[in-house]
Amino acid sequence: MRYAIVSDVHGNIESLERALALVTPDDRVLCLGDIVGYGPNPNECVRLVRERAYATVLGNHDVAAIDNFGIEYFNEAARKAIAWTQTVIEPENLAWLNSLSYEVRQGEFLLVHGAPVDYFEYVLDKRSAAKAFANTDASLIFIGHTHIAEYYVCEAGGGISHKHLQQGGELELEEGKRYIVDVGSVGQPRDLNPKASMVFYEPERRRVEWVRYDYPIAEVQEKIHAAALPDLLAARLGVGR
Ligand code: ZN
Repeated sequence: MRYAIVSDVHGNIESLERALALVTPDDRVLCLGDIVGYGPNPNECVRLVRERAYATVLGNHDVAAIDNFGIEYFNEAARKAIAWTQTVIEPENLAWLNSLSYEVRQGEFLLVHGAPVDYFEYVLDKRSAAKAFANTDASLIFIGHTHIAEYYVCEAGGGISHKHLQQGGELELEEGKRYIVDVGSVGQPRDLNPKASMVFYEPERRRVEWVRYDYPIAEVQEKIHAAALPDLLAARLGVGR
């Protein structure tokens, strides 16, 4: 059994479709939230995730789309995109987002959008990673939120190490260690590689793999312009930041 894990789709259906094309019918799809916000196809993305995902947790943009929660922390482009999303999102899709929970625990692993307990905190350095490890007893924590493909390891002695997976790569899980796996973003990568990011996890082989894949960026940029969403949101897709 293999898990295919996607996060931060952000209304980018072109990229989500290509991610799911890499998934086999036997894989279980997990989604770490932020299905909407920023991008031009929130309804299509929600529908596809509803159809394909085995489990999904809420992201901060999903919550903002539902009732403006947390919108005071958003920058101007993000706020404008949420306001636009609220004008197009279908009530049924909004109701489904509203039914999701902030975390899903499945045996040894935990799914959250940003961090355990502090669901919308950013794990961006060893200090925030240490806090995240302290907030749960899960040995494998899957996160998104930062749009950066990377992982943190909590060694048996408590020391923390880190690796960035800008070009994709693998991780062999070792006994006695704990891991935070940031799967990166399907819809808006921010680690200076415009290729999208997703993760495959094989529990039996104790193996995590980050895949960076191409999608038609120009098509999404055109849609962003056509919807009169902020230009910045189109430009950043081209540079991955
Ligand atoms: Zn996001």
